[in-house]
Amino acid sequence: MKYIVNGRIMLPDAVVDGRVLAFDRRIQGIVERAPEGAEVYDAKGLWVAPGQIDLHCHGFKGMNASHASYDELREMSRELLKYGVTAWLPTTMTLAWDRLEACFAAIRWAMSDSQKPGWRGAQVLGCHAEGPFISPNRKGAQDEAYILPPDIEKLRPWRDVVRLMTIAPEVPGALPFIRQARKLGVTLSMGHTDATYDQAKAGIEAGITHATHLFNAMPPLHHREPGAVGAALEDNRVYCELIADTFHVSPALYPMLSKLAARRLVLITDSIEAAGMPDGEYDQMGQKIIVDGIHCRFPDGTIAGSSLTMNNALRNFSLNSELSSWQLVNMATLQPARAIGMDDRKGALLRGRDADITIADSGFNIHKVFVGGMLVYEGN
Ligand SMILES: [Zn+2]
Repeated sequence: MKYIVNGRIMLPDAVVDGRVLAFDRRIQGIVERAPEGAEVYDAKGLWVAPGQIDLHCHGFKGMNASHASYDELREMSRELLKYGVTAWLPTTMTLAWDRLEACFAAIRWAMSDSQKPGWRGAQVLGCHAEGPFISPNRKGAQDEAYILPPDIEKLRPWRDVVRLMTIAPEVPGALPFIRQARKLGVTLSMGHTDATYDQAKAGIEAGITHATHLFNAMPPLHHREPGAVGAALEDNRVYCELIADTFHVSPALYPMLSKLAARRLVLITDSIEAAGMPDGEYDQMGQKIIVDGIHCRFPDGTIAGSSLTMNNALRNFSLNSELSSWQLVNMATLQPARAIGMDDRKGALLRGRDADITIADSGFNIHKVFVGGMLVYEGN
């Protein structure tokens, strides 16, 4: 058994001070003190929080989940520890289907290996497939040439890999696809969609429970046509991804979103291959991307994803809202775990959950990271 002492332990609904977190591969609970001679880590008054879960991350530092490279998935999984991420969904772009299948195969391999102790990185929980069953009208950074009509037979062989799929509910064939994909255990997310409010509601009734980077790649909230944004925000069944880089969604909206959906917001990065690189021009899957601080764009100005990290997302949201620390942490831990139906294993420091733990300061700088109870990262 291992113990973390002197920490402020973040539970889903409270912060516990003056106690000790006990764990082995799993969380064992909160105890009064560590026994004599036990393996003890001193949190030095910092936060002891669940590891973060990024449901929408394409890549960074020249690596990309769309490269279909096991080695890159492994390297990214290690790098993500620095930002407090202990589990993630490598996220594919809309690519040619055979290319996507190569990506899914690499992710399947990484999923399996990331459960083993030698991985020493964030666990790969599956893939977030961003397309190809989306709307050409809201393609954003996705390549229109590879958009396809929904086809459950394409998804079926990859049901164990694709945990989350972004789909436009208004495209022909989407509703039966959503119902069937749901039965396969895939979580459906509306995104890259031109849906009206009624079409979005129909998608939710068919089984959509998630919204991909809310406000982005969907029509804006309009008082006479609330669209997918209105449908997602009003329905308690729907988790809403937010790219909290202060650019994709104005931070002026963070307090309003907190009031409407604090328990359903899911912080994501949507970070791309060029994230984490110096400002300049980069080639990404044959497309030119210009990185300028937090802005990543195509030469025509289209936003191409972000250069955000999960701990910076938490910092940005905390600076622009009035939420308690545990509410904030839930948005990057418990809520993403719930959104993909994995909260029985992930996302909270509760007895029986995987011992995925971060020790971080109140500015969300990461000091220590444990995955499955093993210390895998130590910062400053
Ligand atoms: Zn994306």
